Amino acid sequence: MTDPGSAGPSPPPAIIVTRMPAKIEPLWPRWAKTVGVMLQRNILLRSQCRRCGTLMRVEPADLVARHGAGWSPIDHQERCRMVGCDGASYYLAARRIDTAWRVLLADPALIQGLDDLPAPVTARTLRGG
Ligand SMILES: [Zn+2]
Repeated sequence: MTDPGSAGPSPPPAIIVTRMPAKIEPLWPRWAKTVGVMLQRNILLRSQCRRCGTLMRVEPADLVARHGAGWSPIDHQERCRMVGCDGASYYLAARRIDTAWRVLLADPALIQGLDDLPAPVTARTLRGG
């Protein structure tokens, strides 16, 4: 016998979907994904040391020679090239000199502490100008 208080079909059962949270991937522009594309498109590349602040030009052709055209500088760091510094440098890229530099880090562990870095050190700052 049916419940006299119910009129019409019963509501559908609740569906509970449980899944792992998706890893949040930043949307990198195509020009920033590999050093091969950077070389083809004349993308400007720099590295900045987390410890001493040294800002260096990086030639995409050098990275292509060292790692291959498909290598990505995103979330990669290398040893600082300043003599006497044992810091790690991360990469920054810009499409043109008059556009903003984009930090090529997405890994939260690598991004952590970026706000507390020393000011960029360039030839100009070393000369006191
Ligand atoms: Zn350094």
